[in-house]
Amino acid sequence: MSEVCSFCGNTDFKAKSVDYIYRRGEKMLIVNRVPCTECTYCGERYYEADVLAKIESDFEAIENGTREAQRRLSVPVEDFSRLVG
Ligand SMILES: [Zn+2]
Repeated sequence: MSEVCSFCGNTDFKAKSVDYIYRRGEKMLIVNRVPCTECTYCGERYYEADVLAKIESDFEAIENGTREAQRRLSVPVEDFSRLVG
């Protein structure tokens, strides 16, 4: 874990649990309650390598059908230039 934020130089962090969106092309996996450390100044989040590896292997398992996700969402997608109002 980095002790100095590589974005803002702050040295104060707090442990958090957040929703992580893993994305590969058009495919995504949302993982809830992922442990991370967040910079208290700029909000940059740092994850342990084994946490990210676990998410990536879960994504692979769901993609190749060896594991079923807990639940699935249907997500609408928009381009900003098409928005009204
Ligand atoms: Zn920072």
